[in-house]
Amino acid sequence: MSEQTASEVSEELSAWLEENWDPEITLAEWWSRLSEGRWSHPTLPEEAGGRGYNREQSMAVTVGLADANVVGPPTGLGHMLAAPTIAVHGTQEQIDRFIPEILDGSTAWCQLFSEPNAGSDLAGLQARAIRDGDEWVITGQKVWTSGGHVAEKGMLIARTDPEAPKHQGITYFAIDMQQPGIEVRPLRNDWTRTFQRSIS
Ligand SMILES: Cc1cc2nc3c(=O)[nH]c(=O)nc-3n(C[C@H](O)[C@H](O)[C@H](O)COP(=O)(O)OP(=O)(O)OC[C@H]3O[C@@H](n4cnc5c(N)ncnc54)[C@H](O)[C@@H]3O)c2cc1C
Repeated sequence: MSEQTASEVSEELSAWLEENWDPEITLAEWWSRLSEGRWSHPTLPEEAGGRGYNREQSMAVTVGLADANVVGPPTGLGHMLAAPTIAVHGTQEQIDRFIPEILDGSTAWCQLFSEPNAGSDLAGLQARAIRDGDEWVITGQKVWTSGGHVAEKGMLIARTDPEAPKHQGITYFAIDMQQPGIEVRPLRNDWTRTFQRSIS
């Protein structure tokens, strides 16, 4: 946990931006620099590529980046959900494997929780994962998967102990979205036409 005050955080960030911000470099290069400087997700612990900042220190970073008019860090479900979850519950090996490529924006994640019959209440979760030697074989269908068509990785929950009470026996998997057996289909709806009708 860092002991810096918010104004000390702002000063350190300003000095770093002076050295590192360059509007001519690519977005990928800039996000890589932000990640190396530990500014991409400063509330993560140091061992996960962050700075262990609290809310106030982190706000000083957000405001400092905005005031300097520079491009902010990558966003999305990997940044918001996968990285903090892995930082808290993952092994150091999993942290080193998954988090750096989230912090530099090179890997996009999606969230594979909701199912056709399991939305708000995950006790209805039906996706099953069965261990087969070194592999897990997962069977099921997910829905409402924002960014599922572009994500490289997914955080997926599946039932691993069907005998356990419904809110237990569920395991969180980090999976590759580009692998045989995963089929991503679009959900199409008629909202444009409905909207046009309602204003005509
Ligand atoms: C734009 C959008 C993007 C989304 N992106 C993702 C995503 O990327 N990944 C993902 O996993 N999910 C995603 N979701 C799904 C979302 O997070 C919810 O899980 C899902 O919308 C809720 O499920 P449902 O629509 O089947 O509603 P239901 O779960 O059937 O709920 C319907 C109503 O019943 C109530 N209800 C449900 N269960 C109970 C209960 N046990 N007791 C009392 N009341 C209850 C609810 O509060 C609600 O009012 C997304 C949803 C939207 C709209």
